[in-house]
Amino acid sequence: MIATLQINDVSKTFNNENEKVHVLDNINLSVKNGDFLSVIGPSGCGKSTLLKLIAGLDLDYEGNIVVGSQEVNGPSKERGFIFQEHRLFPWLTVEKNIAGNLSLKDSDTRKKVDDLISLVNLKGFEKAYPRQLSGGMSQRVAIARALLRNPEILLLDEPFGALDAFTRSHLQEALIDIWGKNKTTMVLVTHDIDEAIFLSSRVIVMDAKPGRIKANVTIDLPYPRRRTSKSFQEFRTVILNHLDHKAEDAEDWSI
Ligand code: ADP
Ligand code: MG
Repeated sequence: MIATLQINDVSKTFNNENEKVHVLDNINLSVKNGDFLSVIGPSGCGKSTLLKLIAGLDLDYEGNIVVGSQEVNGPSKERGFIFQEHRLFPWLTVEKNIAGNLSLKDSDTRKKVDDLISLVNLKGFEKAYPRQLSGGMSQRVAIARALLRNPEILLLDEPFGALDAFTRSHLQEALIDIWGKNKTTMVLVTHDIDEAIFLSSRVIVMDAKPGRIKANVTIDLPYPRRRTSKSFQEFRTVILNHLDHKAEDAEDWSI
């Protein structure tokens, strides 16, 4: 399989006024085309920093990152980015938020936008404004917007972190559905163990100060996954152990 994302010897230090903060230390990672990778780790371990480097939003680091056959040297439409908050334009309708700077009068764009609206289950809301949508619906618009340009890879930084548990689990199911249909390579940052196991084919566990890859867990469970199944529990224990927490603490992490 072709590696869609290749991270080679990446280290990152922030040079603040009076101190250097060594955030990422020698990260090496290869993500295959169509993989669903989750990155999990304690707050401050450098997850968002790593995602920003992959996105090309920060070029000040050591090592190199290759997406497709291109070395990352700036932002690109090949890499869609989904933030924790949806960042939709409040003055634009759902369909215009998705279309961005492309014209809906163009029949190709019109069809793509309509297909994406069906894909994220928002039929009937084409002309709605963000203020008329729930948090979960807005995040689905953000996903559709990111998918419009057929990105090689979708980067998601705790995309459901601000949502209530019920909406979050619905969106996780929606994301698996979209991934199943679209086969876009996904890299998702989360601090939620259950979310990582529910969604991903592989979970990277990170350590903090400096951020390093501590473990690499392949989740070979068929989809859709059941959070209550025995094998799901076993993966929860494996990841908790990697995070240096005892299994008895599972509840604290899975909420
Ligand atoms: P995570 O997403 O895993 O919570 P971040 O990648 O946001 O962690 O941050 C990792 C570390 O880098 C933190 O200690 C944070 O304070 C520091 N950091 C992040 N961005 C900057 C910045 N622009 N300047 C200085 N330090 C930063
Ligand atoms: Mg973060």
